[in-house]
Amino acid sequence: MKNHKRKVLVTGAGGFIGHHLVKFLKEKNYWVRGVDIKKPEFESTLADEFLMLDLRDRKNTDTATKNIDHVYNLAANMGGIGFIETVHAEIMHDNVLINTNMLESSRINKVSRFFFSSSACIYPRYMQRKSRVTALKEDTAYPADPDNEYGWEKLFTERLCMNYKKDYGLDVRIARFHNIYGPLGTWQGGREKSPAALCRKIALAKKEDTIEVWGDGKQTRSYCYIADCVEGIYRLMNSSVDTPLNIGSDRLISINQLIAIIAQIAGKKISKKHDLSKPQGVRGRNSDNTLIKRLLHWSPSTPLEVGFSHTYRWINKQIQEGKQHV
Ligand code: NAD
Repeated sequence: MKNHKRKVLVTGAGGFIGHHLVKFLKEKNYWVRGVDIKKPEFESTLADEFLMLDLRDRKNTDTATKNIDHVYNLAANMGGIGFIETVHAEIMHDNVLINTNMLESSRINKVSRFFFSSSACIYPRYMQRKSRVTALKEDTAYPADPDNEYGWEKLFTERLCMNYKKDYGLDVRIARFHNIYGPLGTWQGGREKSPAALCRKIALAKKEDTIEVWGDGKQTRSYCYIADCVEGIYRLMNSSVDTPLNIGSDRLISINQLIAIIAQIAGKKISKKHDLSKPQGVRGRNSDNTLIKRLLHWSPSTPLEVGFSHTYRWINKQIQEGKQHV
């Protein structure tokens, strides 16, 4: 019997969101090719084919996109605030190459649709100066003033995607992710983001203990659970929306409030030692979900307490199993 399954490519399939997305697409019965420079760290991949390819190299993006209908392009050299505020040229260099090569190879290999994972980091600094911040609507990206080089590269690639659509008719979908968290993500080593770093610190703490917190803890963010994120990616990819959409939560909380939630999950009494010399990013950031709710009927359904309970337990288990680097 002829196989009518749509063939999809997930780049960054060895990483956090990419690995979860491969699992989701396999459940939906797609034929999936995963590509990355590394295999998933915590589980084996479910991809039908997994190619270890460096996508900074144009020959490799040609190979990756061969005989593919839909591309989910998630590969990026990235990390949490400690990484993106200290590594600049390498992030811009690598990600411009990955994204430019991926778009050009997708055009040449006649990919029918291309998903790009952009970021809340594209939004201007002047919109994010207060803790009680106004949530970010998609149309407030300009005049551009991202707060780091990672955000500038994402904004450039959003524009490149839109111009591949304009000049070559490549059908593009663009999501701006806002702090995606959950199990199976980087939780140590310097590239981890605040949700995983805080879970790790609290998991390592004694029943009554003090943890180091970057900044005064009054900076605010919103956090979106991975299962909601992959559902949002899928709905966007299968919609007709070709302008950027936020994929995030609109529940704004401070880092101090988040610590209280994780400490309660852990059953520990946690005090904080604030280190004001450490990078903390913008003062406040929240996702405005009006547009995605209207266009895709999507909003995250996992309460923060539930998502962080899964995440904390998974990181705690990693530590109990002795997986922590010394
Ligand atoms: P991740 O670091 O876990 O995954 C990225 C993957 O890309 C890694 O496995 C890495 O090995 C791979 N990669 C890096 N360089 C490569 C190369 N040259 N060739 C092939 N693969 C390469 O990150 P993630 O959290 O899963 O993020 C996925 C995407 O979503 C990225 O584009 C990221 O910028 C974007 N994003 C994530 C968040 C978030 O909160 N996690 C927020 C905004 C945007």
